[in-house]
Amino acid sequence: MQATKIFRLPYQKSEVFERLKAAQLEAALVWNECMETHRQCRISQTSWLNQTALQKLTKGKYQLHSQSVQLVCQTFLANVDSTKSNRRAGIKNMKYPWRTKKFYPVSWAAQSVKYKDGWIILPMGKGRNPLSFKIDLDFAPGACSLVWNRGFELHIKQEVVLEEKKVTGNKATIDLGEIHHSAATTNSGNGLIVSGRGIRSLKRQRNVALAKFSRKQSKCTKYSKRWKKLQAAKNRFCLRNERQIREYRHQATRQVVEFCKTHDVDTVFIGNPHGVRNKNCGRRHNQRMAQWEYGKDLSYFTHKFRMAGVSVLIGSERGTSSTCPECGHRHKPKGRTWNCPKCSYKKKHRDITGSLNMHLLAFGQKAKYPEQIKYLRPVQLGSSRCADTRPCSLSRAGGNAPSHMQSGIPLRDGACSTPALANTSSTSSEGNQLIPAQSIGVV
Ligand SMILES: [Zn+2]
Repeated sequence: MQATKIFRLPYQKSEVFERLKAAQLEAALVWNECMETHRQCRISQTSWLNQTALQKLTKGKYQLHSQSVQLVCQTFLANVDSTKSNRRAGIKNMKYPWRTKKFYPVSWAAQSVKYKDGWIILPMGKGRNPLSFKIDLDFAPGACSLVWNRGFELHIKQEVVLEEKKVTGNKATIDLGEIHHSAATTNSGNGLIVSGRGIRSLKRQRNVALAKFSRKQSKCTKYSKRWKKLQAAKNRFCLRNERQIREYRHQATRQVVEFCKTHDVDTVFIGNPHGVRNKNCGRRHNQRMAQWEYGKDLSYFTHKFRMAGVSVLIGSERGTSSTCPECGHRHKPKGRTWNCPKCSYKKKHRDITGSLNMHLLAFGQKAKYPEQIKYLRPVQLGSSRCADTRPCSLSRAGGNAPSHMQSGIPLRDGACSTPALANTSSTSSEGNQLIPAQSIGVV
């Protein structure tokens, strides 16, 4: 199994920026050729090109490494295949790739990536200088890709060792939520609630700030000096906010995984809240629901539980938070407390109730209400181990690094390890002198 580590590339020289941009423009040309050829085949009703034919067509034409070109072709064909299967399954509005791209992420296969003396070397094809970045890695790098996310990022794959699967008979269920990130219960009578209020607050802060930026930008001429300044500030803010939310999410999921590991759980059921957005509940609530990234939670959980050797089941959670686990009476609770009007099941936690009902749904057995519920926050407030995983640029890495990075204490999220900072004073005549940012973690 593989995990991805993200490194920001704070380009110091404009020529490096131009090279990275040119590589993405070139990759877009490969995609466009694949797209145009495929479109012509469909129009003329001739047979579609397979991988070999497409690779032969694009071979030696572009200023990229041959495997990078092949990877674009493979991604294109995978895209065509999934569209085909979706259309066969009855989803007729699925379109084959049709849009002309201006930029496209450049990927390198694991065999073509080299790592030597703290430099990661990414080949650009015969007769062309490779791209090289100074990054201190504590693992052998796998496949890499160059991605644009309000600035260039290098995504490096890492092989992860999986823990052995255990059979203990202990089961757990997880109810995902927006106010409470997750509520977990085990059949052995333990409960855990991880607060989601930190994430909620960060999102609200982002919505308010974005509205403020838009108001200010609406008074400027587009692309004027003032407009560009505001845009740069907006990008900085959004990047920081995104990193903070991602960190909270990783920490929250990690806490649930640790809870399950402590109680020797071998199988976990996670309720998929899909469908919760279909109901119109007013513009403010709709916005909160639209910004609730439960798909990411499901993916982080699946990934982390697999690493811990725990089996994961995902299924619908429909009706679980509105049914009484004692008498089965259906009742929509108001507020955070569950009070059954028909029986003695009163003053119980609403999300824990949802999680309890999932035991019957997934494993066919009732679980008792936990005697003690552990409440956790993803990140300790007021701690020096703040959630801000601000990237360390050239100037910042010297003496101003956050305390957890200076001391080398790993972050609480195991997947989010702290790589050693690059030596900022070293210079080299070969390659580009770029310093990697702080690793942000598994995505
Ligand atoms: Zn009841």
